[in-house]
Amino acid sequence: MITKRQAQTLSCVIPGLNEAENLPALLPVLVATLRELVPAFEIIFVDDGSTDATPLVIEQLRQTYPQLVYLQLSRNFGKEAALTAGLEASRGQVVVCMDADLQHPPALIETMLERWSTGLEMVYAVRETREDEVWLKRVGTSVFYKLMRTSNGLRVPRDAGDFRLMDRCVVDALMALPERSRFMKGLFAWVGFPSEPIYYSPAERLYGVSRFRPAKLLRFAVDGLTAFTTWPLRLLSLLGAVLAMLSFSYGLFIIFKHLIYGDAVRGWTTLITVVLFFAGVNMLSLGVVGEYVASIFAEVKNRPLYLVHRRRGQGLAPDQEPA
Ligand code: UDP
Ligand code: MG
Repeated sequence: MITKRQAQTLSCVIPGLNEAENLPALLPVLVATLRELVPAFEIIFVDDGSTDATPLVIEQLRQTYPQLVYLQLSRNFGKEAALTAGLEASRGQVVVCMDADLQHPPALIETMLERWSTGLEMVYAVRETREDEVWLKRVGTSVFYKLMRTSNGLRVPRDAGDFRLMDRCVVDALMALPERSRFMKGLFAWVGFPSEPIYYSPAERLYGVSRFRPAKLLRFAVDGLTAFTTWPLRLLSLLGAVLAMLSFSYGLFIIFKHLIYGDAVRGWTTLITVVLFFAGVNMLSLGVVGEYVASIFAEVKNRPLYLVHRRRGQGLAPDQEPA
């Protein structure tokens, strides 16, 4: 018989930017769910520089739900940094990350916890469909996962978001990673540990619109690729070598043709096309190299990932920490 482990403490980490309308809907459901599952829990809401009524709403909610911890960052640092801040503050034996907009159904936490109790260290939710998204986003996502997959044996699970449950050992491993660029999907995959997906269909965002507009998503994808792959750099060297070889052979061909047949050199159109083409390839290559240099620059500056403006609420007491 397999002995199941029982979670004593749970932390729920929620990064949020301007979620004043969603929070009063989320909290009661979440608290009711967690009460059924564990003896003690904390809900860490990381305010990623909200400019709406979020701080006030949280202050009110904290009267009703003492388990709620409010961590206000000094400005908007982006979801990845906010998530890191929340994970760093969490003390639970298991930690759940979820969005504030009710796209991640709290009901799923029970299934996740059940899977954890059988010995898995990480259970991540994978969206079953992308039918709710426009085709351009679907194509883009598909290309992104294909590009990502070529990275040195690392498999970033397709369509897995940040909605997941982790054991303390996974959180500690994540926090020990020194890098500044926190592409969480990649880091979750990188740390490994026995993990399994569960499938769900995300609900519609309750209030407001997604903060990840196409331009921001593209930026996000490029950050992920530069943080986890090096093949674009190798591809460029290869491309350079092949083009150099081709042009050298063509050069030889023209010289011999001229020597044997005495052809006059013609072809301004071909020349200008080739020159422009290679100027384009050069610029593109420089751009790709530049992306990598920029991410190295961000790392060496070694600035903190986020700054906390203030913290309200106790959360789990340190003595509730598992031994
Ligand atoms: N979010 C954040 N900082 C940001 C952008 C988003 O903390 O700069 C939060 C947001 O409040 C939500 C979660 O990240 O809780 C997911 O964002 P959103 O719903 O806009 O994205 P999508 O669901 O489309 O991926
Ligand atoms: Mg959302």
